[in-house]
Amino acid sequence: MTKKKARALVLFSGGLDSTLAVKVLEKQNIEVVALSFVSYFFDDTKAKISAEKNNLNLRSVNFADMHCEVVKNPKRGYGKAMNPCIDCHLLMIREAGKIMREEGFDFVATGEILGQRPMSQNLNALNLIAKESGLEGRLLRPLSAKLLEETEVEKQGLVDREQLLDISGRSRQRQFELVKELNVEYYPSPGGGCMLTEIEFGKKLKKLLQTIKKPTASDFALLQVGRIFWAGDTRILVGRNSEENEKLKKIKEENDVLVELQDFMGPITLVRGIVTDEILAEAKKITASYSKHTKEMDYKKLNFKII
Ligand code: SF4
Repeated sequence: MTKKKARALVLFSGGLDSTLAVKVLEKQNIEVVALSFVSYFFDDTKAKISAEKNNLNLRSVNFADMHCEVVKNPKRGYGKAMNPCIDCHLLMIREAGKIMREEGFDFVATGEILGQRPMSQNLNALNLIAKESGLEGRLLRPLSAKLLEETEVEKQGLVDREQLLDISGRSRQRQFELVKELNVEYYPSPGGGCMLTEIEFGKKLKKLLQTIKKPTASDFALLQVGRIFWAGDTRILVGRNSEENEKLKKIKEENDVLVELQDFMGPITLVRGIVTDEILAEAKKITASYSKHTKEMDYKKLNFKII
């Protein structure tokens, strides 16, 4: 009788480690679906490119609202910025676990490496995630597996532990060697985490969460464009280049106001919230001050388009 092919879901960012995790399993003839998550703070662009170039079977899951709750109130706190890495990762693994059970996959795997990230990839964090995700025994880290306790899937022979790896730490030397050994066709240059790990973005997000009770998808999108000024609960956003000006126009909602210089080239400014005469004057002043043609001029003497 032919042995049943094991099926795995692998959390997939498109980066080198998750690509290697897929390849290590595929080498054992395991059927792999790479799983990428989409939120208000990261998307699946990198995963799509990498999956296509490496010929992987990719599925994207939008978990933006659930993820947003974790960002607002992470049980295990934030990293250096507003990055709730442990809870974010835990949520991804839990969601992968749901799909695993519903669709009859045998286990979930990740590209995590023991000791690579101080907050989310130390031994305690890896064990905690395995336990709290409800996937203990069904959660495999192929790149560090030999340094970790044997999982159920290894014990059952669904995966050959001998062919798994024992990588740890921050050096990427072993991964670069594996690129050749496992015929990885493409991987993006290693980057940091998502935008939640950026200190400046974290400050803007914190202010938004403190000020706006129920921020919407559009509020989060707005946070990623332009310079932001607050006037009470009202936001004034100024585009920093033509691309951002276009984005602001697209994000504009019915009650938002756009301010633009009428007779000179300059930025687009979007105002969201209560727009009093004083706030509109402030928006005009800011708009004029960010145009090289009018920055020295008295904004009160300039004409503006208000849309
Ligand atoms: S870097 Fe961003 S996507 Fe990655 S675990 Fe942290 S919060 Fe989540």
